[in-house]
Amino acid sequence: MGENARTTYLVTGGAGFIGSHLTDALLHRGDKIIILDDLSTGSLANLPSSGDLQFVRGTILDASLVDALVRQCDVVVHLAASVGVKLIMEHPLRSLITNISGSETVFEAARRHRKKVLLASTSEIYGKNPDTPLREDDDRILGSTNVVRWSYSTSKAVDEILANAYHREHGLETIVVRLFNTVGPRQSADYGMVIPRLVRQALRDEPLTVYGDGTQTRCFAHVSDVVDAIVKLLDHPGAVGQTFNVGSSEEVTILELAKLIGEMCQGDAGVRMVPYNEAYSSGFEDIMRRVPDTSKLHALTGWTPRRALRDILDDTIAASCGESGVAGR
Ligand code: NAD
Repeated sequence: MGENARTTYLVTGGAGFIGSHLTDALLHRGDKIIILDDLSTGSLANLPSSGDLQFVRGTILDASLVDALVRQCDVVVHLAASVGVKLIMEHPLRSLITNISGSETVFEAARRHRKKVLLASTSEIYGKNPDTPLREDDDRILGSTNVVRWSYSTSKAVDEILANAYHREHGLETIVVRLFNTVGPRQSADYGMVIPRLVRQALRDEPLTVYGDGTQTRCFAHVSDVVDAIVKLLDHPGAVGQTFNVGSSEEVTILELAKLIGEMCQGDAGVRMVPYNEAYSSGFEDIMRRVPDTSKLHALTGWTPRRALRDILDDTIAASCGESGVAGR
């Protein structure tokens, strides 16, 4: 059981990738869940059937609905957002409104009903900062406002600033988690996330597309490790008013990653290099490295990621084989 027996959590975006795994973990320890999700990128197929789970289809932009649900819960986990560089590049205005107005609506309801809120932010916050590893108090370095890519980073920065302002000015209990690349079963391949996309290509015997020259690196954490960090922070009173990086520090180049996935899926269509201006509109700026320093999270909760890249790929490939009906090769 959780710290408070049968806590009721409102999980916005709970039918999505991370939200559905968090829902599983909280239900497993005996908590109750209310999910608010508009199913724009999430799916009911991600959710278990349980008497302790209430699903509400709706948007975080609906202030009276958000108010009614926040009133019914003990703690809010705010995950609903337009996620991923591809979605943001294709629908910049809708993404900004969801991520900024939606979050303000959630924080305002939490203030009225005095409920703790955990906000899911992102490593995109750091923009082009080349420091390695990145610490929570490092600078944000962003490009021009004309480059659409930076609007996701900026919208999440506004969310973080809102969380901090509600904490300081209204005493609202807030926790900010900056998630680095998170991967695992149920992550959709449709919105530009690299591992699900490469796995899908490999399983279809299509060439694995690598953008740019493939030397850019990323660190991937398994969603169960990320959920474990979120739960530890929700349970720890010392997390309130703080910001934490959550992610793995195992670094891999995207070209190495594509080759590894090709090998593990026994795909033989090879790798195809795609220039950025073919993959995205021109003016796209990528980030060469992004490694989190998670010592603050570790010092408070003892958290450390337990699954290595190969375990993550094993799980993701097995789940994708199940979905696509491809038997493991
Ligand atoms: P996801 O797209 O699977 O989940 C987002 C959920 O929010 C979806 O179920 C979607 O239907 C829902 N949603 C979107 N707009 C909504 C609205 N207006 N009202 C109600 N629901 C709405 O993505 P995810 O990877 O699970 O991301 C969850 C959170 O974690 C997001 O806030 C995201 O910014 C953050 N994050 C994720 C990653 C990652 O690697 N997956 C990295 C950094 C940050």
